[in-house]
Amino acid sequence: MRLASIAYAGGEAAARLTEAGLLLLPYRDLGELLAHEDWRELAAAEGGEVVAVADATFLPVVPRPDKIICLGRNYAEHVAETGSDLPQHPMLFTKFRASLTGAYDEVAMPGASDRLDWEAELVVVIGTGGRDIAKANALSHVAGYAVSQDLSVRDWQRHTPQWLPGKAWEGLTPVGPYLVTDDELPPGAVGLEIGCKVDGVVMQKSTTDKMIYDIPTVIEYVSTFISLEPGDVILTGTPDGVGNARDPKIFLEPGQVLETWVERVGEMRNLVVEAAR
Ligand code: ZN
Repeated sequence: MRLASIAYAGGEAAARLTEAGLLLLPYRDLGELLAHEDWRELAAAEGGEVVAVADATFLPVVPRPDKIICLGRNYAEHVAETGSDLPQHPMLFTKFRASLTGAYDEVAMPGASDRLDWEAELVVVIGTGGRDIAKANALSHVAGYAVSQDLSVRDWQRHTPQWLPGKAWEGLTPVGPYLVTDDELPPGAVGLEIGCKVDGVVMQKSTTDKMIYDIPTVIEYVSTFISLEPGDVILTGTPDGVGNARDPKIFLEPGQVLETWVERVGEMRNLVVEAAR
């Protein structure tokens, strides 16, 4: 199934992509759907109003997750290009709900910086929550996968060793367009091409099996220190090819189009616009 959280003329709703369009499900968004233990059956329901894809605005797949957890330095080539050491444990940081935006939304330059950089990432969305989840059992807690951009404000990321300001910037993390349920993909979403283009030029191109810490390992690690909840979102790190690691460095500029894809999961398209203030 390809599920989405959308805004349309009638409001906001969870939806499932069908041949006829987006079939509305009676939930405010996918977070509300995933809170039901039998969400797979509920999501597969037939009948109801259909909205044309062209008439929908795609919201972040889970617009109001309890947690947004992100991995840094999770692809070896990316670690190498940044001149960093390989992490000894999964390197984690967080974002806030206001950091998220939709798969086709405009992304505004940060008013306080001109160092906006791309990071194509695979997202895993938790379906069944839990604490102390064993690696061997971890994939049974996954609802599915989505595409994201961990757009990073490089100077603000490096103000201190804590990356938070440069990573949690408001409205700079598109996630979507669809939550593709795990049954449609290889276990753990391994072996999928991932990348991004700026104005049609490929900037990143790798595969998800190059992650240092795979998804079961990440779920085991995170759930050791905090309970995972249905709808929690985990960004799994970016491959090599970021603008900040190039010589000379390249950063995004207003007017540029950023396209981000994960094979079999989807593609996002975000126009970079001037800062709002
Ligand atoms: Zn990242």
